Amino acid sequence: SKIRVGLLFGGRSGEHEVSIRSAQAIATALRSDQNASKYELLPVYIGKDGVWQKGEIAQQVLASGEPLYLTDEKTTSTDLVPSPSLLPEATNFEEIDVWFPILHGPNGEDGTIQGLLTLMQVPFVGSGVLGSAIGMDKIAMKMIFSQAGLSQVKYKTVKRSQIWSNPCIFPKLCDELEAELGYPCFVKPANLGSSVGISKVRSRAELVTALDNAASYDRRIIIEAGVEARELECAVLGNDQPQASVVGEITYQSDFYDYETKYTEGKAAWFIPAQVSDNIANKIKEMAVQAFLALDAAGLARVDFFYVEKTGEVLINEINTLPGFTATSMYPQLWASSGISFSELVNQLIQLALERQPEVS
Ligand code: ATP
Ligand code: MG
Ligand code: MG
Ligand code: MG
Repeated sequence: SKIRVGLLFGGRSGEHEVSIRSAQAIATALRSDQNASKYELLPVYIGKDGVWQKGEIAQQVLASGEPLYLTDEKTTSTDLVPSPSLLPEATNFEEIDVWFPILHGPNGEDGTIQGLLTLMQVPFVGSGVLGSAIGMDKIAMKMIFSQAGLSQVKYKTVKRSQIWSNPCIFPKLCDELEAELGYPCFVKPANLGSSVGISKVRSRAELVTALDNAASYDRRIIIEAGVEARELECAVLGNDQPQASVVGEITYQSDFYDYETKYTEGKAAWFIPAQVSDNIANKIKEMAVQAFLALDAAGLARVDFFYVEKTGEVLINEINTLPGFTATSMYPQLWASSGISFSELVNQLIQLALERQPEVS
């Protein structure tokens, strides 16, 4: 009989709409000639209100591509304050053999959903609790990367309480950040994605505004020295013996790769494979696999880099354990260019999930 795949999408995050588009692409792949005889698709939609929906409602969102509001709570995607999804009844989903969560950002990519699926005792695609949580938290992630010997930008961390509730130490804090990191620097909430809450700052006034803004998204803030660099990305696929794809490059006209540039058609251009030497490409592939293993990531991840052409330095920026997975997203395109089609990628990810069952006989 067919393997029943619970495609879990939507979610309480600013990346709700992207998640729907990723799910549509995966659903198409599951219904393709290659996969249809092997898998049965069971979509499960988490509304912006956090309510889990299966059956007709989930099918309808997949078909229309439009988010659905079932309760009164209407919020726009960018002003959503992260808050937990409503807990589903595990027994409502007993027919599912393997979950395919394709939720980006908080409450989906950060280990929370992975913890729930672990408790349900059903295998799922992608990283477990540990890898997901570290990948989403830029502070924990940088500590792990540093321990693994991976080069990265200089950074400092601060807590919301240092920014909001302590007017006496705040100017001193800004002095320290300026002295250690200089301008431009990047201010980021520790746990987010899609560049939400991130600012590039060039002066004390901008720093103060950026810290206050980042603090409205997260309790923990990271401030990084800005580098002038090319942005390269590499896809990783596998469990304990992960493989790296070809390397891709992103270019854009805007100040940095911000939310608008990411999600407005035509604002960013991609080059796959990136025009870099074999030496640099190999170094990036090696670092991508090292980063993946350092986190105990599983299944898939997209690892992002800064290549400082002037000095030849390659710095790791971040790992994304549930990267965008739409038909035109970087992750599947990097694999397509490496010889693995979208349908085959979906097949391999489900097989990797089934192989990674924790029990030993
Ligand atoms: P994603 O959507 O990939 O999950 P994110 O929200 O996790 O992104 P980052 O990748 O950390 O955010 O940063 C977003 C963008 O900001 C980068 O792609 C880059 O353009 C710019 N940027 C971030 N940090 C730096 C830095 N230290 N130096 C130069 N540019 C930076
Ligand atoms: Mg990220
Ligand atoms: Mg992300
Ligand atoms: Mg990024």
